[in-house]
Amino acid sequence: MEQYKGLAIAPGVALGPLWTLREKTFQAETASSPDEEKERFARACEAARAQLARVYQTTLEQYGEENAAVFEIHGMLIEDEDFQDCVFEAIDDGADAVSAVKSAGDACAAIFEQSEDAYTRERAGDFRDIALRICEALAGSEDDHPAEPSVIFADELTPSQTVKFPRDSILGFVTRKGSLNSHAGILARNFGIPAVSGVDLASVPDGTLTAVDGRDGVVSVDPDEKTAGEFRERIRQSAAAEAERKKLRDLPSVTRDGRSILICANIGNVEDLPLVVESGAEGVGLFRSEFLYLSREDYPPEEELFQAYKKAAEALGSRPLIIRTLDIGADKQADYFQMAPEENPALGLRAIRLCLQRPALLQTQLRAILRASAYGHVGIMFPMITSVNEIRQLKAAVAEAEASLRAENIPVGQYEFGIMVETPAAAIISDELAKEVDFFSIGTNDLSQYTLAIDRQNSDLAPYFDPHHEAILRLIDMTVANGHAGGCWVGICGELGGDRELLRHFLDIGLDEISVSPAKVLALRQYVREEL
Ligand code: PEP
Ligand code: MG
Repeated sequence: MEQYKGLAIAPGVALGPLWTLREKTFQAETASSPDEEKERFARACEAARAQLARVYQTTLEQYGEENAAVFEIHGMLIEDEDFQDCVFEAIDDGADAVSAVKSAGDACAAIFEQSEDAYTRERAGDFRDIALRICEALAGSEDDHPAEPSVIFADELTPSQTVKFPRDSILGFVTRKGSLNSHAGILARNFGIPAVSGVDLASVPDGTLTAVDGRDGVVSVDPDEKTAGEFRERIRQSAAAEAERKKLRDLPSVTRDGRSILICANIGNVEDLPLVVESGAEGVGLFRSEFLYLSREDYPPEEELFQAYKKAAEALGSRPLIIRTLDIGADKQADYFQMAPEENPALGLRAIRLCLQRPALLQTQLRAILRASAYGHVGIMFPMITSVNEIRQLKAAVAEAEASLRAENIPVGQYEFGIMVETPAAAIISDELAKEVDFFSIGTNDLSQYTLAIDRQNSDLAPYFDPHHEAILRLIDMTVANGHAGGCWVGICGELGGDRELLRHFLDIGLDEISVSPAKVLALRQYVREEL
């Protein structure tokens, strides 16, 4: 048995024969005239577009629009002017169509890889994906997939490859490259396929029994009988447990002694919505809207934000959707914001501080959120609050956005106005802040960072980080009590909300809501219903 520790990409366990997705090599050909090569390229693009339309349709039917959308984007990337120019230039320089497409795909991917924005870097794989698809069309080659359910190994999976395998032929994914936020990683999590990256199984023969632990990021090749037996048992247990948990999807989160709490989900984009609905979450307690900004080269227009929020509001129906305004700055940066470098960005021009300095940026967001409020149960939430004065400025900004929409006869629905309590300052004056707002959501990730003076990004400080530190717990207690006294509902949307050791205490102090990642919702509901 050989064991490898990699990066945990998607949770779950799998056991089965290995099947390696071999990278296709496309031979350079002798180029005919540039015009003929361009003609071949145009025909291959046409074929690739037609294929993408089919993949889009099947993915849409099997996995829903959010998962299919990437193939629509690929269809557009084929038309990308820079990509097309690169191919034409290479052909004019004497290359055949296959070599020209390969070099253009690599060149476009390299530009994306240099971006400082992690999300944009991940998009490099999308260019390689379309280049591969066009090369396949040029070579007239067919897709291949395993004949029996298998653990699939690939150097790096592209989104197309992730969905092209028939769903029942995939037990798990192992890749040599690939990060948590790659599209393939997101798709694997959405589909519930265990996945580990950073492991090289290129030299392992196909058919070798392979065990994947996607929670701990461990891959065991040719496991001994004892390990294989343990995996079989874990697979059996997790299937049984999952089936049990699914029965709780439409039930409330109520303890045996009758106390109830809302369990909602945190999301970063609309692609997470099917997961939220499937998880049985009672709403979205935190939509981290900055992800809509991180994935691009320029500011998203109001219409684009509105469409995303409207989609989320409609998907949730009567369940709440709490949209947090932009929390850019600190660890989340995008070049086009052109922020001046800071000595201490976590203590710098972050979140509402930036938005209050850039009124147009704030108005665009507020108009989009208020427009979406006509389609569901929407709450606006402001991050990094430290004072009453900030709240008053934000209220004035919301009033301005609402007035401008009404003047244009654009409908605005009912909405709640809330803040994150994630600075010690906000927790300490929460009695004052409660008079100004409808709800508090405690951001325990930042509240811990600022209370304990521990950089949340620095893993070397882990030994100093005590998530149950008395100071944090007292600030939470104080915030809940002050919020309730001021007529607010109070939730937690930081990681501590999913901490089972503290749940009893949170129920005792009357916390109204917790919001966790969609994958945690049902397990937490089960714990509330069965253990508390
Ligand atoms: C928090 O700080 O706890 C929080 C939920 O916000 P973020 O993790 O996005 O800073
Ligand atoms: Mg925060």
